[in-house]
Amino acid sequence: MGLLTVGEPLSWTETKALAEFVREHGIEQFLNIFHARRHKGDDTLKWGDEVEYIVLEFDHQNRKVRLALRASTELLTTLQKPEEAGETDLSSLWRPEFAAYMIEGTPGVPYGNMFAFFKDIEENMRLRRREVMSLLRPNEAILSISSFPRSGTLDSCSPPTFVGTVDGTSKSLFFPDEAINPGHPRFGTLSKHICERRGGPANIQVPIFRDVNTASPFVEDFFAQMNIDRARRYRQADHIFLDSMGFGMGCCCLQVTFGASNVCEARLLYDQLTPLTPILMAMSAASPAHRGYLTDRDCRWAIIAGSVDDRTEAEITGTDPATGEAITTVRRIPKSRYDSVDLYIYPTNKIYNDIEIVRNEKAYSRLIESGVDELLAEHISHLFIRDPLVLFKEKLDIDDKTESDHFENIQSTNWQSMRFKPPPPGAKEIGWRVEFRPMEVQLTDEENAAFVVFIVLMTRLILSFNLDMLIPISRVEENMKEGQKRNAVLDGLFWFRKDLSLPQCVLTHFAANECEAAARIQEQVTPCLKRNDVTKETMYTKSVKMSVDEIINGSHKKKFPGLLPLLHAYLDSMKIEALTRCSINKYLQIIANRANGTNPTPANVIRSFIYNHPDYKQDSIVNDSVNYDLMKQIWSLQKDEITLKDLLDSCP
Ligand code: GLU
Ligand code: MG
Repeated sequence: MGLLTVGEPLSWTETKALAEFVREHGIEQFLNIFHARRHKGDDTLKWGDEVEYIVLEFDHQNRKVRLALRASTELLTTLQKPEEAGETDLSSLWRPEFAAYMIEGTPGVPYGNMFAFFKDIEENMRLRRREVMSLLRPNEAILSISSFPRSGTLDSCSPPTFVGTVDGTSKSLFFPDEAINPGHPRFGTLSKHICERRGGPANIQVPIFRDVNTASPFVEDFFAQMNIDRARRYRQADHIFLDSMGFGMGCCCLQVTFGASNVCEARLLYDQLTPLTPILMAMSAASPAHRGYLTDRDCRWAIIAGSVDDRTEAEITGTDPATGEAITTVRRIPKSRYDSVDLYIYPTNKIYNDIEIVRNEKAYSRLIESGVDELLAEHISHLFIRDPLVLFKEKLDIDDKTESDHFENIQSTNWQSMRFKPPPPGAKEIGWRVEFRPMEVQLTDEENAAFVVFIVLMTRLILSFNLDMLIPISRVEENMKEGQKRNAVLDGLFWFRKDLSLPQCVLTHFAANECEAAARIQEQVTPCLKRNDVTKETMYTKSVKMSVDEIINGSHKKKFPGLLPLLHAYLDSMKIEALTRCSINKYLQIIANRANGTNPTPANVIRSFIYNHPDYKQDSIVNDSVNYDLMKQIWSLQKDEITLKDLLDSCP
């Protein structure tokens, strides 16, 4: 989840007072890195994945399953021991996540040469799981599952928690403070300060999935909870009300980070992968149920965005909440700090940035004055419109030349669909990196590995075949909304570029800059800075709406080659050892089948299991009995005791 520093967190009032200090130093820290590393080239491709897990405790006697809150403390402490003892060459590394029931695992060292490592990913994921399994009690389980369907219901945690306090950290009516990771002060403080900044707990409204016996209108009865007045104020007909950071950041995802050869390549990849974010989110959809209800959404995205939305009413609307009049003293901010990216950052791609970008003008001027080009300055100063959320007393006075905590503080709390990552100061072996963040975690390691292989291969395809997938950023945003809908993978239609060849002007630009990186962009290639293949008017005609199947597998009718056929053509042009090619083909087939519906999304698997369970009353409620069987079957699947098909056929 980003930067972790241990120490004593400051209060929100103290943090707020230091916001400008942190931003100013953060910009200086970025500039120091930028100037020290902008010319650096030839970094070899290194990459790695992050898988987030939920730990559960089964109560077989009562057919109940609860979130095991010891994951982030007891389990994580044990898992991190070898690393803390200074052991190197570990096969896995473990990190804390937001919830007390979560942990995050990564490979011990980044993967290098891509092809040689493809066969190791799945095995490494299995190994990670086994490592945790060896520490579990007999009634516990570690699941790669995006959302726990009954999170935030009464008696959903072990040990038991007190729900309903309005004075606690996240002031939630449902999600207990004890379920926030107590092992590190960052998490509780994040939650508390987000509430304080926005002036109250989160207000997330998720449309309910309407089944034949679902009340119409569906209006929740909160009498089981405390503080009924607040609940009544917020409840909306036909929606489920979620009110805590835990409902969002308590969800799990699958992320991939890869190093680029230089800053230019990182920027190019960041842009070219951005149009893929909604497509891969929809394909990996895995979170259809929350707080005991089936929703009409398959993905976690909007829930997390709402869960960490720290904007004030005035920042959201641009008007004074008391008078309703427009205010000039507060800037309107269109989106949460967790959401899809707002702009492309490769120098030729500015034309495609067709949505409002709010920026920190002071930061922007400073970046430009120090020689950062326009678009990168815009990106960084856009991140720097946010306040720092957590500050540690011990880490305020730091050397801007050798440390980057203030930069990372703002950067790592801008949770966007892609992240552009400068090298850490001093770490010579780490270069410019890009993180792909929209995917939900899969039910099997084979599927998790398939998504990782696909994304890493896409980066090679983009660079080798000079692919151009850019569409106006407003259309990526539209796709992001489409991709969260129920069954978007099969029913959704997404804007996608028809002609995928990169125009000559961008190629020339890239060739001229590859090793020089961003430093000379402005002087050297001014003639190429504008793409000459599109205008503000014609860029909308370059994309059409397609299904995920058409985008991934191709469409004769739409004369679109499809990303997978292109990937196979790329692989055919490479000398790859037969066994490796076989395993790559296996993973690409999983992706092909996911796109055409042969292999259901985890969201679909979960829905089918619930619909067919005898204790499900077609009323959108996922009760304890249904949830218990569902989690038990997923656990059997993840222990390789049953197959996905068995799971689907296994409804009692
Ligand atoms: N769990 C978050 C998600 O599902 C991501 C947290 C992180 O950035 O590691 O998107
Ligand atoms: Mg994480």
